[in-house]
Amino acid sequence: MSGAFTVDADGWVPAARKLPSPNFEARPQGAVPTLIVVHNISLPPNEFGGTAIAELFQNTLDCDAHPYYDTQLRGVRVSAHFVIRRDGALEQFVSCDERAWHAGPSNFFGRERCNDFSIGIELEGSDTTAFEAAQYRTLAALVSALQARYPIDALAGHSDIAPGRKTDPGPYFEWPRLRRDTSLDGRYFPYLKFSEKR
Ligand SMILES: [Zn+2]
Repeated sequence: MSGAFTVDADGWVPAARKLPSPNFEARPQGAVPTLIVVHNISLPPNEFGGTAIAELFQNTLDCDAHPYYDTQLRGVRVSAHFVIRRDGALEQFVSCDERAWHAGPSNFFGRERCNDFSIGIELEGSDTTAFEAAQYRTLAALVSALQARYPIDALAGHSDIAPGRKTDPGPYFEWPRLRRDTSLDGRYFPYLKFSEKR
C-alpha cells in the first residue's frame, strides 16, 4: 500500500481495512487532533503476523492462547486509530474524530491526557527489530493525509510522552527517515535532536 491516502468526512481512511474497535469515546468538547503518536506493538511480543493485535483492539483476544495474554492482557481495553502491518497494509480501528485509548497516562510538554488530542499509529514491530520499508511508506502517506485534514503540529513517540513507562516505538524507529519522507519541517519533531533535524 502506498501513494496518497484521504480521510473521509467521518474520520476514516477509505483505503484502510476497517476493523472497528469498541474502545473509544468522544474527544473532549472542542478537542481536535494536533499530535500524532507513533507506537510499536507485536502479539505475542516479538512475533509478527497473525490477528492478535486486531483481536486485542476488538476485545476478542483469547487470553488463554498465550501466557503473555493471560498475565498482561486479560481485561485490558485498548485501541489505536491505526495499525501498519509489516507489509505496509493499513488497518483502522477508531475514527480520527474519536478518542482512542493508546497513550495512557502521558504528558506532552505539560499537557496531560494525550489521548484527548492525538492520533495513535501502531507499527507492527518491536523495540529489537528494524521496521520495514513498506511500513515507512505507509506511515509517511498516512501522516500527510492526517496533516492535510487536521491541525497536526507535532509527532512524538509513545516513549516521549510516557517516559519511564513506555519504550516504543523503540531505538529502531528512524525518526529522521520519517521527517525526510514527509518533508515536514523540524519543528514538527520536538523530541528529535537538533542534529537529526537538519
Ligand atoms: Zn505504545
